[in-house]
Amino acid sequence: MNLDRSKKLYEEALNLLPGGVSSPVRAFKPHPFYTARAEGSKIYDVDGNTFIDYCMAYGPLILGHGNQEVRERIIDQLKSGWLYGTPVELEIKYAKLIRKYYPSIEMLRFVNTGSEATMAALRAARGFTGRDKIVKIDGSFHGAHDAVLVKAGSGATTHGVPNSAGVPAEFVRNTLQVPFNNVESLVDVLEKNRDVAALILEPVMGNSSLILPEKGYLKEIRKITAENDVLLIFDEVITGFRVSMGGAQQYYGIKPDLTTLGKIAGGGLPIGIFGGRKEIMERVAPSGDVYQAGTFSGNPLSLIAGYTTVKILEKKGVLESVNRMTEKLAAGIEDVLKDRGEDCEIASIASMFCIYFGDRPKNYEEALRLDRDRYMEFFWKMLKNGVFLPPSQYETCFVSYAHSDEDVQKTVEAVSRSI
Ligand SMILES: *Cc1c(COP(=O)(O)O)cnc(C)c1O
Repeated sequence: MNLDRSKKLYEEALNLLPGGVSSPVRAFKPHPFYTARAEGSKIYDVDGNTFIDYCMAYGPLILGHGNQEVRERIIDQLKSGWLYGTPVELEIKYAKLIRKYYPSIEMLRFVNTGSEATMAALRAARGFTGRDKIVKIDGSFHGAHDAVLVKAGSGATTHGVPNSAGVPAEFVRNTLQVPFNNVESLVDVLEKNRDVAALILEPVMGNSSLILPEKGYLKEIRKITAENDVLLIFDEVITGFRVSMGGAQQYYGIKPDLTTLGKIAGGGLPIGIFGGRKEIMERVAPSGDVYQAGTFSGNPLSLIAGYTTVKILEKKGVLESVNRMTEKLAAGIEDVLKDRGEDCEIASIASMFCIYFGDRPKNYEEALRLDRDRYMEFFWKMLKNGVFLPPSQYETCFVSYAHSDEDVQKTVEAVSRSI
């Protein structure tokens, strides 16, 4: 595999961009490949290599790269202008469509990123309850803002900085942590802290490898938060419109107080959404006293890309088809691992999957024991075999509607050669 041009570009980038990149996980050693274009399930680099893509921009591209219908609607919108700074009818149409699948979201606001959505949801929870503390899960990732950069997953864990420098200790004094899949520690923390506004979590953890909730865990924490008058925030930035149309909350039958969406909800353009109970959301400015604002919020391009994507997903069989393809792939990989992959496991849910180098974890502490070096060795072998997995053991692999039987077959073969 020739990566000469990528190597040269990266050397130049290192002097211009911290770590050579615009977001940390993209920087893997010795250097990342530079993308020339992407289409369907494939990503093409500047040196002429082609890869089957399971990174899928870290989640948003459930329809694959460059979906034609989404592209056409974006182009239509471009012809009418791409930013107005005024309300558009599409905000109402899209809000109604979201509410149809997320009955817990009675009212919502469009923002620009998942980070912004969780930041605003936490502020709304604090404003509504009049309490300062929040509880998050060890290793969960809710974006790159101060309050949640404590034991944070994703690039923060990959690069060994789960607690960021530059975040004053006073800013995170009110951020408490509990392990995932552990009801007792949540009970304990809520008993010791009477001033907790909210528990925020990824109902399916997708940023510390893939960690599934154990049976009954989410129901139990819903019960406990309600009993303690603590708001429950589901961060469904990854799971929304993926685990099911109604996200993990529909899949597991849980009604959170607030929800954040992003990634798929923007159809590949930047978006974040936070919403939930009307009485909480009505506290958001200008109807209430919790301030939140954004120049690009509700911009028509992100809205049309997201709206069109959700409209395609709601067609009969689309999500089912992506999920079936994922099952096929996971079963194929599992066969190979059983046969030859010592100490390797695979898990999947809907169209997310993860190959673990070590035992399948049930929380962050266990995820930290995974062999990230061996994963990276495997990652490079897969790349040489034409498959682009996320460049970290702590990210989740994503299958899209554009992945074909042929892709699956080639991928299983690549695993067989690489493992
Ligand atoms: C990606 C992600 C975010 C952050 O979203 P950005 O759009 O990158 O700011 C928040 N929460 C979860 C669960 C995510 O996976």
